[in-house]
Amino acid sequence: MLRLAIQKSGRLSEDSLTLIRECGISFVSSSYKLKTEATNFPLEILFLRDDDIPGYVQDGVADLGIVGQNVLVEAGGSALEVEALGFSKCRLSLAVPRAAAYQGLADLQNLNIATSYPKLLGSYLAERGVQAQLHTISGSVEIAPSIGLADAICDIVSSGSTLLGNGLREVETVFRSEAVLIAQPNLSPLQAELLEQLRFRMQAVRRAKR
Ligand code: ATP
Ligand code: ZN
Repeated sequence: MLRLAIQKSGRLSEDSLTLIRECGISFVSSSYKLKTEATNFPLEILFLRDDDIPGYVQDGVADLGIVGQNVLVEAGGSALEVEALGFSKCRLSLAVPRAAAYQGLADLQNLNIATSYPKLLGSYLAERGVQAQLHTISGSVEIAPSIGLADAICDIVSSGSTLLGNGLREVETVFRSEAVLIAQPNLSPLQAELLEQLRFRMQAVRRAKR
């Protein structure tokens, strides 16, 4: 038996459920249940907050998970990426107030930057020799400059309209992300075999869409 954790409700949920169904796996899901068992594959599906999924997979509470690479890399830890899934594509970007003069990363030196991704942003800046004060906040990062909490932000962007609506201008891409299948590093031989079957089906689903 494999346990797969997916996001309960959010931007990954619908595409995750669709992918599992397109793999030919049948199950009943209802919005108030936290887990469900497939009827034609040895799979149990857990519905969790996306941020918790890498930790649960690392600890073996779940064997597999579907999360954004942004969340996986920010979490650190030992959950392994086993398959890129091609949906929920987005980027982690730096943005500054529209009126701010910005010519390059050196302009961020010594600024206050608000983000929910201190690890990803911290290593990006460190690799480029930029020193800045990172302020970790868990949501509504894009309003931080307008309320005087930060000089710049680093947040997930897909179209950029949220940034524009908050008077911000995207200036650097820190990380590109998509949804990925992750696995705990200590699967039993039987579980590893089931994972291979699942990956085979996922790859076939993606090929059929091209
Ligand atoms: P939860 O309540 O589960 O913690 P959340 O609010 O943290 O949810 P969502 O906004 O649903 O998370 O985003 C989940 C993932 O979807 C993100 O980590 C990212 O990988 C991806 N994502 C985020 N924003 C976008 C977007 N605008 N377009 C496409 N994918 C996105
Ligand atoms: Zn989340």
